[in-house]
Amino acid sequence: MGTQQTSAELFQRASAVVPGGVNSPVRAFGAVGGTPPFFVKGEGPYLTDSEGRQYVDLVCSWGPLILGHAEPSVVEALHGAVAAGTSYGAPTPGEVELAELIVERTPVEKVRLVNSGTEATMSAIRLARGFTGRSKIVKFAGNYHGHVDALLAAAGSGLATFALPDSPGVTGASAADTLVLPYNDTEAVERAFAEHGDDIACVIAEACPANMGVVPPKAGFNARLKEIAHANGALLILDEVLTGFRVSASGWYGLEGVAPDLMTFGKVMGGGLPAAAFGGRAEVMDRLAPDGPVYQAGTLSGNPLATAAGLATLRGATPEVYAHIDQVSVRVQDEVAKALSAEGVTHRLQGGGNLFTVFFTDREATDFDSARTTDTEVFAAFFHAMLEQGVYLPPAAFEAWFFSSAHDDAAVDRVVAALPAAARAAARAQDRG
Ligand SMILES: *Cc1c(COP(=O)(O)O)cnc(C)c1O
Repeated sequence: MGTQQTSAELFQRASAVVPGGVNSPVRAFGAVGGTPPFFVKGEGPYLTDSEGRQYVDLVCSWGPLILGHAEPSVVEALHGAVAAGTSYGAPTPGEVELAELIVERTPVEKVRLVNSGTEATMSAIRLARGFTGRSKIVKFAGNYHGHVDALLAAAGSGLATFALPDSPGVTGASAADTLVLPYNDTEAVERAFAEHGDDIACVIAEACPANMGVVPPKAGFNARLKEIAHANGALLILDEVLTGFRVSASGWYGLEGVAPDLMTFGKVMGGGLPAAAFGGRAEVMDRLAPDGPVYQAGTLSGNPLATAAGLATLRGATPEVYAHIDQVSVRVQDEVAKALSAEGVTHRLQGGGNLFTVFFTDREATDFDSARTTDTEVFAAFFHAMLEQGVYLPPAAFEAWFFSSAHDDAAVDRVVAALPAAARAAARAQDRG
């Protein structure tokens, strides 16, 4: 034990004792093929694998590391916190400060800390149901809100029919109260409310979807969701687990300004440790236990290490950091477009704030069906050519690319230098297809 070092050996060992060899499916490289590198170190914009290969990291732990890996202020905060004990199961000053900072940076009036984005959306939905006394919820195809049973639902065949389980183990009963609608389709939302308005507790949507690739809301879509929900006595939940504190100091809210009844956060606010939150109007949040009847709890919620990392990260995420990430994002998008165009690769870049996805299709992605026209074989070829040259992209076609304040010119130059060969690999895959 402990002597095997290559990623292939580690993956084999892992596969013997962990389903699929990973603790979250996308990490297994099923979408791109090959063996995932096993990482042993992160530093600034770089990751090092168990074989000593270094990569420019454009995943940033799927968003949280907005200051890069092992950023000194975050490391220092964690050292201080860990020396004082890892958990008390009781109130701490740090969680007050983190809650205050979230309230300051977003439209929410009150916030409850939890441990994962999944827990945040699950709790927000329970609260919306408890607040309205209704059971049905509306979600959108291609929007991801974690692995909550009621949200792992796929659209039924008709528009306003209730959903089917999207995974074995999700019961028909937990999916049956979920309506799954096409994204960006206000008419579908109007029809759903016309038919079921009295039973709908809430609409939940990603504030700017980034889990089917980046598919931004059409102008006015989120505002219209709020109007329709409110006209029918329902709540709007905007999920900012991914976009919160990443696309601006507050999140997508900072770019668009639609304040929902409830919001969910995660990723950046934990600074790479497990912390997430849901918050909203005080009138709604006060229905939570212990003040109200809607139960919600957590042994490690508001954990002192997680709050220390989150606080250091949010404090470090200054306007300069967002300006830098915006700039890097624009430069990389320009260079990707140039490289792919030079090789005649069919593609579309779609952005939302500083997030973007390269779709290998000529169709604009406005919903899940159009997003799925991207050629995943072409993406896989592009991905592996980048990986070979030391650039670690998200290992699936339907993801955003992530940058951090640590992505300096040297790191970005390495990404840019890798693009021509990756574009040639994509062109060969396109020709084969
Ligand atoms: C990542 C994500 C979640 C789930 O968060 P976990 O911490 O992985 O449970 C929920 N919603 C959105 C929009 C996400 O991107």
